[in-house]
Amino acid sequence: MSTNSITITQPDDWHLHLRDGEALKAVAPFTAKQFARAIIMPNLNPPVTTVIRAVEYLDEILAAVDGSDFEPLMTLYLTDNTSPQEIIAARKSCFIKALKLYPAGATTNSDAGVSDLKKCTKTLEEMQKSALPLLIHGEATGSQVDIFDREKVFIDKTLIPLTQQFPDLKIVFEHITTKDAADFVQQSGNNIAATITPQHLLFNRNALFQGGLNPHHYCLPVLKRNSHQQALLNIIRSGSHKFFLGTDSAPHARHKKESACGCAGIFSAHAAIEIYTSIFEQQNALDKLEAFASFNGPDFYGLPRNSKTVTLIKKSWQIPDEYDLGPDKIVPFLAGQTINWSLASTNDT
Ligand SMILES: [Zn+2]
Repeated sequence: MSTNSITITQPDDWHLHLRDGEALKAVAPFTAKQFARAIIMPNLNPPVTTVIRAVEYLDEILAAVDGSDFEPLMTLYLTDNTSPQEIIAARKSCFIKALKLYPAGATTNSDAGVSDLKKCTKTLEEMQKSALPLLIHGEATGSQVDIFDREKVFIDKTLIPLTQQFPDLKIVFEHITTKDAADFVQQSGNNIAATITPQHLLFNRNALFQGGLNPHHYCLPVLKRNSHQQALLNIIRSGSHKFFLGTDSAPHARHKKESACGCAGIFSAHAAIEIYTSIFEQQNALDKLEAFASFNGPDFYGLPRNSKTVTLIKKSWQIPDEYDLGPDKIVPFLAGQTINWSLASTNDT
């Protein structure tokens, strides 16, 4: 592999928000252009809590990416009332790949989330038996928990007890942001893995306040201090098989970000693999990119690796200031900035 061009197995995005309606139509093609598959988050309003609803959502997504080979990997939204029967139906469906746990109130459309995991005991037992992964937004909620400590408190108060109660449950600790989370995953068994977003690798919390309040760098979990960013960069340089690509790309219209109470979420699907490639290059870790982007995720989920390849070339381009989002506009991650890598082609092997 030369440094001017790199060809890797086609990547997948293991954490993606596509929304629905006009927004879905606008953003889904960006992902389908780069990724073979993506784990689709179920936090619509109302959330996708049943297999029947997931079928409808799957159809909507397939219509939005018509003409591509993109495969949406669907998830269900875990609630206090998700039944063990729904888990059995999900496993039998074959297209539902996981359940998503949002602690109630943790992020966008999470009000229907789980209020107390004790209410889900039978359901989690069934998931453990079915080897259906639980994808976790790992933040403690409650006004007494400092926002920068939410991940650490969640590990201590919720995640450690959960893994003791369900030692074989497959868990993906989503969009990890701290050294604490990285260490926890490293020290856990092979049934526990994590995704890492581009923004948590590229930035620390200074980016929220650089030159003024910066709503387009606001996401949840919020950016953390530099030492945590460095811990995540150490992880990708290490090449550990327990960590994989998950953009958490989360579109919100410009006016909803640039508002007196701006929404959390960063849209990165427009240039996701190019941005990750630039990060791995900066870290002198281009040789670790393919496993992170294309092997570790499917291996964890028990799915085949992709057969196509993608080629990225060293060619600068400028990320637009905005894209259309149905009748609205969206400001993409790194808007207006120049990026060194371009996706050149997708090839059958
Ligand atoms: Zn997310």
